[in-house]
Amino acid sequence: MPAVPTPSQNASINHGENLAAVEARIAKALQAAARQRQEVTLLAISKTKPASDIEAFLSLGVRHFGENRVQEAAEKWPALKAAYDDVELHLVGPLQTNKVDQAIAIFDVIETLDRPKLAGALAKAGQKHGKLPALYIQVNTGEEPQKAGVAPADVADFAAHCRDQCGLSIAGLMCIPPATQAPGPHFALLGKLAQTIGVAQLSMGMSGDFETAIGLGATHIRLGTQLFGSRD
Ligand SMILES: *Cc1c(COP(=O)(O)O)cnc(C)c1O
Repeated sequence: MPAVPTPSQNASINHGENLAAVEARIAKALQAAARQRQEVTLLAISKTKPASDIEAFLSLGVRHFGENRVQEAAEKWPALKAAYDDVELHLVGPLQTNKVDQAIAIFDVIETLDRPKLAGALAKAGQKHGKLPALYIQVNTGEEPQKAGVAPADVADFAAHCRDQCGLSIAGLMCIPPATQAPGPHFALLGKLAQTIGVAQLSMGMSGDFETAIGLGATHIRLGTQLFGSRD
């Protein structure tokens, strides 16, 4: 197996057009919210996509990316990061404690801190390596049993545990609203929780709902399909 997935000539996708279309929609949502472009970071979610697609967006100036699997990121990103040393890579999928060392070697931000055991493992790794990625707590705003994330009612206690017991610094919150509900109330709740615990970063909004998220204070929107086309 090659370290980097074989480039596939993805003729059906015009990366520049997709990016321009997304930027136009971001601009409109920002204008409606009286916000500035630099207040929102566009994360290109490149999961399942080959390095050739990622390189197309790197060439267009995109520098913030997200992956949902540690193993896949470890295969694709070392070479890309060596070529583009100002890339910021976010983990937006679940993190197992036995993958923490691998994750902190490749990711600049971990958005899926969601349980005390993981907080403990990250704290230990931070002591060992002398540094850690920025950490966001994932919140299960819809309290869906199958979904990862801390319940809204537990966020303040969990943040206190991370900070006081583990010595971790928390930079933000992340959520994935239930697919079957209007996302607005979930984004509003995440914003309120962020105020409660005093964190600045709000990762919310995907291809289907990023304008709503921008209107409700998102600092990071996570777009896969709108940029890369559909995933198999
Ligand atoms: C895949 C994924 C995205 C991107 O989803 P799209 O609907 O394709 O934009 C965003 N956030 C997370 C956590 C994801 O896993």
